[in-house]
Amino acid sequence: MVTATNLGFGRIGIKRQLKFLVEKYWNGKVTYDELIEGSKNLRAAHWTAQKEAGIADGHIPSNDFSYYDHVLDNSFMIGAIPERYQKLDIVPVERYFAMARGYQRDDIDVQAMEMKKWYDTNYHFIVPELVENQEFKLAYKVKAVDEFLEAKELGIKTRPVLQGPITYLLQAKVKGVDASFNNLTHFVPRIIPVYVEILKRLADAGAEWIQFDESYLVMDIVNEKYTKEIIQNAYQTVYKAFKEAVPSLKFLIATYFDKVDSNIEFVEAIANEIDGLHIDLVRAPQQLQPVVEKVKSFSKKIVLSVGVIDGRNIWKTDLSKAIKTVQVAIDALGSENVFVAPSCSLLHVPHTLSTEENIKNNSPEVYDWLSFAVEKLDEISTVAKAVNGENVSEKLEANQKSINNRSTSPLIHKPEVKEAVKNVTPEMLTRGTPFAERIVAQQKILNLPKFPTTTIGSYPQSKEVRLTRQKFRKGEITKEEYDQFIKDETLRCIKKQEEYGLDVIVHGEFERTDMVEFFGEKMEGYIFSQFGWVQSYGSRCVKPPILYGDIVRPQPMTVEMIKYAQTCTEKPVKGMLTGPVTILQWSFVRDDQPRSTTAYQLALAIRKEVKDLEEAGIKVIQVDEAALREGLPLRKADQDNYLQWAIDTFLLATCCVKPTTQVHTHMCYSDFNDIFTSIKRMDTDAITIENSRSDLKLLNAFKQYGYTNGIGPGMYDIHSPRVPSYEEILERARETLKYIDSELLWINPDCGLKTRGWAEVEPSLKNLVQVAVTLRKEN
Ligand code: GLN
Ligand code: ZN
Repeated sequence: MVTATNLGFGRIGIKRQLKFLVEKYWNGKVTYDELIEGSKNLRAAHWTAQKEAGIADGHIPSNDFSYYDHVLDNSFMIGAIPERYQKLDIVPVERYFAMARGYQRDDIDVQAMEMKKWYDTNYHFIVPELVENQEFKLAYKVKAVDEFLEAKELGIKTRPVLQGPITYLLQAKVKGVDASFNNLTHFVPRIIPVYVEILKRLADAGAEWIQFDESYLVMDIVNEKYTKEIIQNAYQTVYKAFKEAVPSLKFLIATYFDKVDSNIEFVEAIANEIDGLHIDLVRAPQQLQPVVEKVKSFSKKIVLSVGVIDGRNIWKTDLSKAIKTVQVAIDALGSENVFVAPSCSLLHVPHTLSTEENIKNNSPEVYDWLSFAVEKLDEISTVAKAVNGENVSEKLEANQKSINNRSTSPLIHKPEVKEAVKNVTPEMLTRGTPFAERIVAQQKILNLPKFPTTTIGSYPQSKEVRLTRQKFRKGEITKEEYDQFIKDETLRCIKKQEEYGLDVIVHGEFERTDMVEFFGEKMEGYIFSQFGWVQSYGSRCVKPPILYGDIVRPQPMTVEMIKYAQTCTEKPVKGMLTGPVTILQWSFVRDDQPRSTTAYQLALAIRKEVKDLEEAGIKVIQVDEAALREGLPLRKADQDNYLQWAIDTFLLATCCVKPTTQVHTHMCYSDFNDIFTSIKRMDTDAITIENSRSDLKLLNAFKQYGYTNGIGPGMYDIHSPRVPSYEEILERARETLKYIDSELLWINPDCGLKTRGWAEVEPSLKNLVQVAVTLRKEN
């Protein structure tokens, strides 16, 4: 019998309950006991949903829940807690949140740990931080065991999910060591005992299968430092030790987001120690045959978990195709050695379609094409039933009808849009004039001081802003009243910025709930879910709009608002647009044409907007590409192709303005190593980047690469509520000047201020501007 399994489930709840619970806890509005109770209820609901959908007992994941991030949980569980948090005299849960968010009280002030994007997703994890003489020791409460027991009490047997030790160690950064330091050779022997202890306790608790997320197996892991021998050794040492210590447990090695490729040899090296391998066949369907052949050749029979249901997108699975794929594995390995599974954890898709009344009523045709997490569970179990010979013909017929309907629907295809994409010429992808000339022309108009200050776009979306928007959506206030409210907020925000002394003003983005949804709502080819939230970082969730058809911008989207904002101040106001690659990346997009084609359609829409802003007299236009790096394929061999079309997409959107119009972009990360050449090719007049939670070394790379356009590396971290002091920002700015030419440096925070409160923003920005003033005197 083939088994229906799952790899992980979202944790935030059907209506984002976890978000509100955790935030209330942070604000002192609920107690720790209430936090525990609320989370327990969520876990129970999620396990039950999986059981009811037909996921097999023993293969419903646990320990996939988290208050903030599951990698942080892993660090916490194994005692990888940096000293600055250990020193704090606070209870464990506070320590945990201090690691995630920083800690400020009385005269104590500790920064948060580094946060990074999780592979090519928009989920962020907390990067493990180790020291050379790191000791790993079990936390006094072992989350993985507690959750297993909690489910067991509900009569549900789960499959605990742990961070695979090799992946965990390769993801970790080590403080105070040089580049030759080898995380694997150094830490593998040390980390084994603490994992063994967890495994023993899980076995005692009654666990059977353990899922180790070894997602690094889809990366190009082998290099000079991490040689084949070292990696293979690490895998063997770890999993041999595990098997010997706890022979009763079965280990599933889970990979996802790309192909395993030649790393299969590391799996082969531990084939006797493990009992299963999961592969992603949505992202990398071509790996089916080679992996099946390989697994078949192992001397010990192991299970192949075939990820055939897309865990990253929201379209219905073509079940007949999925069944064929699963059948290939069955034919080679036997049905008792095959699991049906989603391609990756369902963390990355919204909870359920069943609450989406709007789509159901207003776009029934599109509704019929969709499948969220709960519906995907049903797809998993239907596929399993089908290959096990159960009669599911009714479901399969209905599915085939939806699939056929989607492939031919006139809702999707618009000939004029396809034509416009075909007519893009190389001239449309260049500014024509070099930066050195452009900046002189721009300065004649803008007259900005040295070290110009600016912010990334959004300002606090206070309770009042959110409540007023809700009132408007519920029809409790008129459109006129709402628009007036937004205008008033904008004006107030602009006056605040003038008061702080910022040079390039933004309108504050009060009219936008989300930087992608806002544009999606104004374009044809999009629909929107009501509750389709997915976790981005901590309690922050995003609701990616659904791009289902060819893209049209029927009319200007931001021009009225920005024009108004410019009337509020003498200083230049930045037009604020979301870039086409980011819109693509942060939407659920169609899977029936190449992503590059969809990107070009979006670029043509944004290009029209850029042109309209310029014509309306706007002198500075920022096109945010917060997610450009995130779309980079994990495998080096695929990256050039992506970068080629992604940068072309950005150029297509922006290269329609005069040399005197200043184009900015913003990027939300610091991991630029692989994309420097491409950043240069974007040829913006200024780029602001997220830098404050990572090393200044990044800037050195900008220098080495000869980056000669304007650049604003984030001077402080906006993801944390702590207020950076003047001294701290100044020190950072001075440090930055060692790498960046003073003529090119912008002074700004590292991202938008939407999630912060005014009480934090005000002193932070005043300090920031003060730093620019000091620098002007010094340089
Ligand atoms: N302009 C956006 C803002 O300030 C950019 C957000 C982002 O980069 N994620 O909110
Ligand atoms: Zn950002």
